[in-house]
Amino acid sequence: MTKAVSSFESKENGTTISYGNGITVNTPSFSIALDPRSASESNYAFVSHAHIDHVHVPNGKSKIIASQETKELAKMRGYNLGKLDHEVSGIETIDSGHILGSKAILIDDKILYTGDLCTRDRAFLKGFKGVKCETLIIESTYGRRHYVFPETEVVTSQVNKFISECFDRCRPVVLTGYPLGKAQMISYLFDMWEPVYLHESIHKMNYGHIKLGIELKDFEMLSSGKESEEKLSRGPWILIAPSSGGRSSFVRTMKEKYNAVIATFSGWAIDSRYRNAMSLDRAFPLSDHCDFQELVVFVKNCSPSKVYTVHGFSMEFAAYLRRLGFDAESLEAANEPQRRLTSFAH
Ligand SMILES: [Zn+2]
Repeated sequence: MTKAVSSFESKENGTTISYGNGITVNTPSFSIALDPRSASESNYAFVSHAHIDHVHVPNGKSKIIASQETKELAKMRGYNLGKLDHEVSGIETIDSGHILGSKAILIDDKILYTGDLCTRDRAFLKGFKGVKCETLIIESTYGRRHYVFPETEVVTSQVNKFISECFDRCRPVVLTGYPLGKAQMISYLFDMWEPVYLHESIHKMNYGHIKLGIELKDFEMLSSGKESEEKLSRGPWILIAPSSGGRSSFVRTMKEKYNAVIATFSGWAIDSRYRNAMSLDRAFPLSDHCDFQELVVFVKNCSPSKVYTVHGFSMEFAAYLRRLGFDAESLEAANEPQRRLTSFAH
């Protein structure tokens, strides 16, 4: 069941926005499901990007709207989006700056849905600054006031200093992040170090990026076996690996066998309890999302007459926007679930 949360009249006819299996927009000409979690009955289904919580297995009833990059990256993760519809009257997709291929969507020049969003230019991605719209549906992952991230250059220089100190003490470093998006950002930002090795899952996604034209160094994949163990025993080195808690067997092996230092990259690193909860040595606040202030600036740039917030601190963010004079509400239930710090895997 989808619950209609809003309806408004366009010049000629009514358009409704519903929230249930993703967000569904019904215009007089077509219906479109935005990031549905499962196959939809709408005319179109929009897949904003290839993170697992945004892709689904289509059933052929809805035509799929996604970027070619999202299609390729989703395929590498086991999701076949099938044939894409690139030219649809009344629909425009815009780079959302979150990961390679991520898109926002503008419907009938009126309704903007951001998907996951980042306004900062960084490495090979350009931030999305916003477009004027009547209705804005915006992600609010970090929609709480204290989530304010330092400049990417500041974090980069902190990380380089950290790696340098570890290397001085002959200690190898494991840098961890989401396999798609964050790991490529890490690969790009710290490619002056050597040797750098890649965990198999990261190598796969880096290779996907290189194939799609992103200039990443072709770092060596670390396979299990004697040869890799010999390489690692020569330390120090950097290994880029998927996020995993300090209690995982992978992290334990890296620490016990190679005396490695483990660092992770996430916007949640703003919370000091995050590093402790993850039992990791260091956590750096490098995110593929907007921070709180960037979300506010984005909303102002769009100057919408109605704002819906979704994901993360959607209730708090909507409340803040109302204090600024916006007509804003959360698409999510009144009782916003308490987010667990370990439940944000993509
Ligand atoms: Zn995402």
